[in-house]
Amino acid sequence: MSDINFPEGGQSEQEVLNQLEGFKAKDVPWKTGKVMAYIYATDPAVKALAEKAYAHFFTENGLDPSAFPSLLQLEREVVSAVAQLLGGSKETAGNCTSGGTESVMLAIKSARDYARDKYPAIKEPEVVIPSTAHPCFHKAGHYLGVKMVSVAVSAETFKADVADMEAAITEQTIMLVGSAPSYAHGVLDPIEGIAALAQKHELLCHVDACVGGMYLPFLRMLGEEVPAFDFEVAGVTSMSCDLHKFGYVPKGCSTILYRDKSLREYQFFASSLWPGYSIVNPTVLSSKTGGPMAGAWAMFQHFGKQGYQKAVQDCQAAKRQLEEGLAAIPQLKQLGKPIMGLVAFASTSDEISVFDLAERMKARGWYLQIQLASANSPQSIHVTITHFNAVHIPELVEDLKEVITDFEKEPSTTPELLQLFAPEQLQMLMADFSPDMLDTVEEMLGMETQGGLPDDMVLVNHVLNSLGPNERDTLLKAFVNRMFMAEQ
Ligand SMILES: *Cc1c(COP(=O)(O)O)cnc(C)c1O
Repeated sequence: MSDINFPEGGQSEQEVLNQLEGFKAKDVPWKTGKVMAYIYATDPAVKALAEKAYAHFFTENGLDPSAFPSLLQLEREVVSAVAQLLGGSKETAGNCTSGGTESVMLAIKSARDYARDKYPAIKEPEVVIPSTAHPCFHKAGHYLGVKMVSVAVSAETFKADVADMEAAITEQTIMLVGSAPSYAHGVLDPIEGIAALAQKHELLCHVDACVGGMYLPFLRMLGEEVPAFDFEVAGVTSMSCDLHKFGYVPKGCSTILYRDKSLREYQFFASSLWPGYSIVNPTVLSSKTGGPMAGAWAMFQHFGKQGYQKAVQDCQAAKRQLEEGLAAIPQLKQLGKPIMGLVAFASTSDEISVFDLAERMKARGWYLQIQLASANSPQSIHVTITHFNAVHIPELVEDLKEVITDFEKEPSTTPELLQLFAPEQLQMLMADFSPDMLDTVEEMLGMETQGGLPDDMVLVNHVLNSLGPNERDTLLKAFVNRMFMAEQ
């Protein structure tokens, strides 16, 4: 793999920690608060509490709750608290998982196995999802052999279209999905409509509140109008809610909830087919640390309803500032009407590419997440507003304005670059792409750093954007497969 040998050992604590810190040199500088994705940070004192709680349950093993009733109690309390927020009842059953992806995968697994049990005639189960559903649904389908039927959302509002979802229902359909809200545009799907449709056709209905589950309930407590999206809606049978996003808890913590435990039964795995300890896993992991759950429990005690409401209030104020700022920049256009601080915007000008814009903002210390064009959503920039980065939003707006003006003085060089590398050539190459052709593709893109990313991602993003989803995925997989190999 590389010339890195297994360590001889014996380094001092300081040496070890210094090296670890050194690894971070090229990371996005999240501590500045100018990183508008991936990070759900808290101030240092709160972080210290989460770290202590995590460390407290660092060694205990969630493999066997009978050996560690402490972990069982933590999980029960965390899950009950979340269930209460999301309109649950005494019947609501759930578990903590490693993240939203795992929560969704478990929801799909339960639905698949429920259908196998109740509707054996269904041989190739299908789940109808809006095109804005998180890719973890496709991942679940890929892992579990369940077909995801993606239905285009409105090109105007980016909300799921209930009538189009109904048209996608077949004899093989087992479940419908809605997002509360979607990540890309932050818009809330019509959950009541989707759930009613599920009831009409006797289907399960999953609400993905991974990003909104720890936000929308507090928004409602603040007196804002939030359409019904949780177990309050009769047809909703399961929900996913991440704690490691707007719960501000250590990464590795999400929840999967079911209206009652009869559906959760299909989530479990047990095996007595070996001579070792008895295995019964409610979730995917077997051995696992109690750290994330303890961190979640501690953050719930620390923030409480009041603290989370305050966090949401800060985010909403910043969201309004960003939306007003965007409305005053004619070269930019917001996509949809987000219910929370997940704001997407596109360019209205041929002269300004959002990829170039993100790159120029990077030079000013901002990290803005780019979103490639997909179905009826154009290429865009996504901003996740958290209570940590919210105070920087006015400055972000000012910098956006300045950078937009800069384009007049210094136009984008991307159109010329794109001409140089001839898109038809890439299309042809991609038609029968194999991973050993990666070097050729990279050369065409002027990427010299083998295995690394170029400092300027504009051209790469434009090329990816010009490819279809399958070609993009092929290229990205080949690239990342090598990225984990390469010596830097
Ligand atoms: C983040 C997210 C997920 C996936 O969660 P991970 O914790 O990254 O696995 C699923 N759905 C939505 C809407 C999300 O925002």
